[in-house]
Amino acid sequence: MTRRILTLALDTPLDTFFDYSWSAPETGSADPQVGQFALVPFGRREVVGLITDIKQETDIDLARLREVIAIRSQLEPVSPDWIALCQFAADYYQRPLGEVALPCVPKHLRAAKTVALERALKKLAATNTRPSDQPVYARPTLNPEQQAAVDAIVTTKGFHAHLLFGVTGSGKTEVYLHAAERLLQQESAQGRAAQVLILVPEINLTPQLEASVHARFPGLPMATLHSQLAEGERLRHWIAAHQGKAAIVLGTRLAVLASMPHLRLIIVDEEHDPSYKQQEGLRYSARDLAVWRASRQQIPVVLGSATPSIESWQHAQTGRYRQLSLTHRAAAQARLPRVGLIDMEIHKAPDGLSQPLLAALRARLERKEQSLLFLNRRGYAPVMHCDACGWISNCRRCTAFMVLHKPERRLRCHHCSLELRIPTACPTCGNVDLQPLGRGTQRVEEHLQSIFPDARVLRIDADSTRRKGSAQAAFESVHRGEVDILLGTQMVAKGHDFQRLTLVGVINPDTALFSQDYRAGERLFAQLMQVAGRAGRAGAKEGELQTSEVLLQTRYPQHPLYQALLRHDYVGFADSTLAERRAAGLPPFVYQALLRAEARNLQDALDFLQQARGLLPTEGIVLNDPVPMTITRVAGVERAQLLVESASRPQLQAFLKPWMQALRQQKSRLRWSLEVDPIDI
Ligand SMILES: [Zn+2]
Ligand SMILES: [Zn+2]
Repeated sequence: MTRRILTLALDTPLDTFFDYSWSAPETGSADPQVGQFALVPFGRREVVGLITDIKQETDIDLARLREVIAIRSQLEPVSPDWIALCQFAADYYQRPLGEVALPCVPKHLRAAKTVALERALKKLAATNTRPSDQPVYARPTLNPEQQAAVDAIVTTKGFHAHLLFGVTGSGKTEVYLHAAERLLQQESAQGRAAQVLILVPEINLTPQLEASVHARFPGLPMATLHSQLAEGERLRHWIAAHQGKAAIVLGTRLAVLASMPHLRLIIVDEEHDPSYKQQEGLRYSARDLAVWRASRQQIPVVLGSATPSIESWQHAQTGRYRQLSLTHRAAAQARLPRVGLIDMEIHKAPDGLSQPLLAALRARLERKEQSLLFLNRRGYAPVMHCDACGWISNCRRCTAFMVLHKPERRLRCHHCSLELRIPTACPTCGNVDLQPLGRGTQRVEEHLQSIFPDARVLRIDADSTRRKGSAQAAFESVHRGEVDILLGTQMVAKGHDFQRLTLVGVINPDTALFSQDYRAGERLFAQLMQVAGRAGRAGAKEGELQTSEVLLQTRYPQHPLYQALLRHDYVGFADSTLAERRAAGLPPFVYQALLRAEARNLQDALDFLQQARGLLPTEGIVLNDPVPMTITRVAGVERAQLLVESASRPQLQAFLKPWMQALRQQKSRLRWSLEVDPIDI
């Protein structure tokens, strides 16, 4: 009887692999292979693990090993490249391999029962994949810059990271699609299978790009991967990618870990977007993993943005990334919108909308053009207060305010989700005249309706789009011209092309200028450039002068960030930001990791971090003082952090591994976690 020892990675926090014994269920059954999944007993449960090694019977005491229950031999094994990617992510982010590899495969594949898997495989086998050399429709001609970018991407051999730096509306998507097409054709002409991975920052942007890809490559098999897919769908799409059937895989950050055996090109759209960073569990950067994956597989990767992250800009400056620039808007008559600053010291606006902005809105309404107002704060007002005694609506579980949500008649904490009915009187002094302080999108919406009663105002934010599909429906009604004034948070800033939009108003962006977070300025600049780019993308109507305009209400019109924005000057902004970071010893000139601890009592969390600080010698490493996090208490839990820094990434990595081992051995009952390359400090 054939017998093997299988080593498996399992989804547990234990930093080790697990051996099981396997014997052939019947003579002639195929041997298991590395990269297959297998169902095994683990404690009292049955779990699916990934086979990472196979040994012949050796000196291992077989009596001590438990038996594999079943091998998922219906499915081809994952490639060594995929395991290497997961292993790299595991090492770099200081997690066991199993905690990386297993959570990124669909739940149904990790289930003890195989019904869903069988069904998905059957369904996939039944769909006939049409050949990819279908006729291609409506392929726009590229301008010389776009053409040069496509040539650079597809003609280079081996690994290259390209930073595609192009103003909004300059046709980056066309570069992606042409590059993908040329690459797929090239490989198919050589008789080789090929796959292209396209990452987008937001689920809301996938339908738009999916439609473009379908229109361009009718019949080309494609898979989408994001967190809102139903489990059955997710399994089918994952397998289509894994079997190499999907020539194009389109998805959000989690798609960077998709199994794609014939991967030949990776595209990361809006590479600067913070949503590429996973903020819980394995806190990975999908952009960084995309670059590593491309380098491991010796293929090109394209990072596209109008406002590249400061890290990527630095890499382009030092020549590590090759910069490809698109300096013109693709539609010939479309020019960049005119940016104007409204000085709020001069134009007092108790309701948040200044006279110049109202006049501009009125003009658009008269001309039947659309306007967009951007306010990155949802709810009615960020806080309620009592004039009589000074009471304010603090959350009792968090160091944060309860936000007033007027239409829902609730106070809501955006950190712990606590909800209360709006108090009818002050809880402290009984005063019945409680006042909202500041403003969010709901309050501006109310104000707009009162000033422009006939205008069709639509608010898009996380509150108005809770139902699945409602965001999509809302954006479609804007595209159909059923909306005069669109009002929203960052959800409206990203990616959407609104053809009839000629005015963008930005309300109160100033708070980010004074944030403790050194990245706040970079984020604000990117966000404002992006929202400004929504205006006038298709060019002025025939026979008219370009009328697109961006108006920004600020109390600091002289601030260098706004001055750079006036000039559409990303390069100037990025270069001065890099100089500041260099002078201050901040990333990308230093490498960071953040150890966080949570406890009922703040002192316990601080003590834990203080003790962690003294565990190992720290040559070339700076361990800062443990400090409470900015929002210290969330849902009754106190949080503190310890920032670790080094001028050398390898040195930091060399320190983190033994440090994590030493910390695990402490067996502290505190919850703690490590984040490498944190973006929120
Ligand atoms: Zn009061
Ligand atoms: Zn709370």
